[in-house]
Amino acid sequence: MKLHEHQAKEILKKYGLPVPEGRVAFSLQEALQAAEELGDFPLVVKAQVHCGGRGKAGGVKLVKNTQELEQAVESMLGKTLKTFQCPDGKPVSRVWIEKATNIEREYYLSITLDRAVSKPILMASAEGGMEIEEVAKEKPEAIHMLHIDPALGLMPSQARRLAFRMGLPVSEFVKVALALYKAYMELDASLVEINPLVLTKEGSLILLDAKVELDDNALIRHRDLEELEDLTQLDPLEVEAKKYSLNYIKLDGNIGCMVNGAGLAMTTMDIIKLAGGEPANFLDVGGGANVEQIANAFRILMADPNVKAVFINIFGGILRCDRLAQGLIEAAKMVDIKVPVVVRMEGTNVEEGRRLLAESGLNFINAVDMWDGAKKAVELAG
Ligand code: GDP
Ligand code: MN
Repeated sequence: MKLHEHQAKEILKKYGLPVPEGRVAFSLQEALQAAEELGDFPLVVKAQVHCGGRGKAGGVKLVKNTQELEQAVESMLGKTLKTFQCPDGKPVSRVWIEKATNIEREYYLSITLDRAVSKPILMASAEGGMEIEEVAKEKPEAIHMLHIDPALGLMPSQARRLAFRMGLPVSEFVKVALALYKAYMELDASLVEINPLVLTKEGSLILLDAKVELDDNALIRHRDLEELEDLTQLDPLEVEAKKYSLNYIKLDGNIGCMVNGAGLAMTTMDIIKLAGGEPANFLDVGGGANVEQIANAFRILMADPNVKAVFINIFGGILRCDRLAQGLIEAAKMVDIKVPVVVRMEGTNVEEGRRLLAESGLNFINAVDMWDGAKKAVELAG
């Protein structure tokens, strides 16, 4: 789950991290009120969207007076902001207004999990700011990386060494890095990214931007954070899928997939690609899906207009094949099935499942195995 910049800043502030003073505003009126509370111009108006690259796309504006503030807010609120990271755009329903910072230099600082070594990794660079993607590509040596032993935590000595290498005020950087690591761990975050971390002309450090992503599987421990989720930032089909606890992610291809188990779902996407096709989605209905979930999963994946064929790939374990078949039969009552549907199923009660489908009058295409199913789906999708 992603947080907005303003939510992240408000939370990180509680960890003692230095963030600019600011206010969130959902309307022009609230923005004017915020400006009044903040006192002096210049201020910075920032569109709150779950999408990076706002600066280059007009989503971050420095304003020097009330008139500029109004213009900036009106150029953002209620509009869709498209950035290079989100070419389809995201709706802007709130802006963050903060006191402007005098920037001496922009740095990059993030912590995420390095799955390859099962440890958090801290990344930092003196070349932070809006061109960080270019730096990563063309000058990877400018990005310092260090692994953190989760049993020991981030050691001040590690952070000190990094501060020296980047020419940052040492004790301040150590404080920032340690507090950020504490926040990363306590929030069960999967990513905290500060780009830019700014050295001000006055010589102190401040977090000018903040991106925090939380581990969905740990949200059960953070009910207060869960409430912060802004559903307007998600694909409507993903929101719909959440209602039924389905793990659905929309992709760009034209073969809709319905699978049980994340591993099998990954395998299914791979095998579709191997057969020359492109999956339209990732969908894991889970091990214990009931008839209602199956029916809704099918309805949701069919609601994507790009879907030209469907590949249902189920290994019946806890999710028995007969229950899957019943779900599909229910789904067929809810949606008008206009595209070919290939079904491969194996496992518990497979005979019963096949019989139900055969007797249902639904025109599903049987696959003998996974490879056969993938090839058929790709061919039928054209
Ligand atoms: P992003 O493009 O979505 O990552 O948005 P950021 O919050 O990182 O802002 C983009 C850029 O706007 C930063 O790299 C800064 O150069 C600039 N910026 C943001 N806030 C301020 C500010 O308070 N003062 C000044 N002068 N520039 C700012
Ligand atoms: Mn940024």
